[in-house]
Amino acid sequence: MSPRRPSIVIVGGGFGGFFAARKLRRRLRTDEADVTLISDTDGMLYQPLLPDVAVGAIDPRIASVPLRQALPGVKVIRGRATEVDVEAMRVSVADVGGGQAVSYDYLLLAPGGVTRMEDLPGLGQRAVGFKTTAEALYLRELVLARMEAASSESDPTRRQAAITFVVVGAGYAGVELTAQMARMTRNLLPSFAALSQSEIRWLLLNHSTSIMPELGGGLGERALRVLRRRDVDVRLATTIKSVSTGTVTLTDDEVVGCSTVIWCAGVTANPLVATTGLPLDRGRLVVTPELCVEGNPKVFAIGDAAAVPDITKTTSPLTICPPTAQHAMRQGPAAARNILASIRGKPLRPYRHRDLGLVVDLGGMQAVARPVGMPLSGWPAKLLTRGYHLFALPSSRRRLSAMAGYALAGGRPDNVSFGLLSLNQALASTSEHAVSTSERDSAGSHPQHRRTETDHVQ
Ligand SMILES: Cc1cc2nc3c(=O)[nH]c(=O)nc-3n(C[C@H](O)[C@H](O)[C@H](O)COP(=O)(O)OP(=O)(O)OC[C@H]3O[C@@H](n4cnc5c(N)ncnc54)[C@H](O)[C@@H]3O)c2cc1C
Repeated sequence: MSPRRPSIVIVGGGFGGFFAARKLRRRLRTDEADVTLISDTDGMLYQPLLPDVAVGAIDPRIASVPLRQALPGVKVIRGRATEVDVEAMRVSVADVGGGQAVSYDYLLLAPGGVTRMEDLPGLGQRAVGFKTTAEALYLRELVLARMEAASSESDPTRRQAAITFVVVGAGYAGVELTAQMARMTRNLLPSFAALSQSEIRWLLLNHSTSIMPELGGGLGERALRVLRRRDVDVRLATTIKSVSTGTVTLTDDEVVGCSTVIWCAGVTANPLVATTGLPLDRGRLVVTPELCVEGNPKVFAIGDAAAVPDITKTTSPLTICPPTAQHAMRQGPAAARNILASIRGKPLRPYRHRDLGLVVDLGGMQAVARPVGMPLSGWPAKLLTRGYHLFALPSSRRRLSAMAGYALAGGRPDNVSFGLLSLNQALASTSEHAVSTSERDSAGSHPQHRRTETDHVQ
């Protein structure tokens, strides 16, 4: 009788999990092992394209690569992993059938991060996150509907609150979203004759005194200049204290009339990794440079959920790789190689990747980027940013669709919405149709998706 094939189970089909599964499939010999991918979504979401989805520059499906089609030979279980029992070598999964336990010989945890809402009054109930396709679509709908509603609102306070948008957090996601959204609202003004540019307010708050200092080379300042040219009111060393119906109180005690708060100020490791009972570093699962857990050589972890030491740096103790797609998509194949080496009784190799720098798309012909330490802005940075994402998107069909989308959208966004939000809801505060994180979490829903299940229903 031939021995049972080892079972490799991957949790999470995002950047890390997708590229790990693809590498395993390509490298595994016939009948060498079974690969199962547990994912709560059916696509690999290319999150850096979310701002383009939010402003309608590309179709939302372009940013999601279908797992089953892109990963032939991998068994995909659509469900949410709820617990990992490392003693029993089992993952509990909540799925449409109620639930199942999936046993593994090798486990790769790649569930990414979740939006971390701070414990501020009203924030959990009233702010919108920006990490999923649903949230990107919801935001677009919200902004369009509020412009629509404000243009026919006679009460000046309500009118101003409807078209005041506060974004908290000026990391790359917050900066990209605000820059692109501010450009979108300005370009849409000809469709809203009753509104003027001076009325539409975009506020970008950042708790520190500079934005994106990790870019270096004065690129944060350049991004600031682009934002301010688009009339974005960027407040440094300022964040929010509380959110209530129709107003936001800032840390300098200013009260801003505003119905939309977008939270881009924090991501934390997916709480699933805490269910392993294994050591964590600020919520991320501690792994060796070989991407496995010390003392548990059959448990691997990568991406935003893992604290992967950066061995290219000489600091002591070693710094942890930042939570970026750039790392996750390389850690995936590195973990796959090490799982294979382990199955084949070969030595494991440490993960090593020197940061290539960041690319930040500001919309239009504006971007800032620092490829291999070289500061770029304006159209050279834009070409690089577009080229990089198109190259990295793991689907040639989607690459072509994205190019066509960009070419057609140009500087002329349209204001077609899907009717996910009624005008009455748009005029009301977000509070009246948002669901708090805590309520959702206690209901057992994934926090990242808390807005997808109810808010989009009229
Ligand atoms: C708006 C935005 C822009 C960004 N831009 C950039 C950029 O320009 N460059 C860059 O390098 N990085 C960027 N990032 C960060 C980057 O997207 C993340 O670092 C990267 O996605 C992390 O990869 P991951 O595999 O760890 O997690 P993810 O890609 O988030 O994948 C995790 C997957 O696991 C699934 N999952 C979660 N929990 C469970 C569960 N319990 N059971 C089953 N499945 C589960 C999720 O649905 C998801 O599919 C951006 C992020 C955002 C939000």
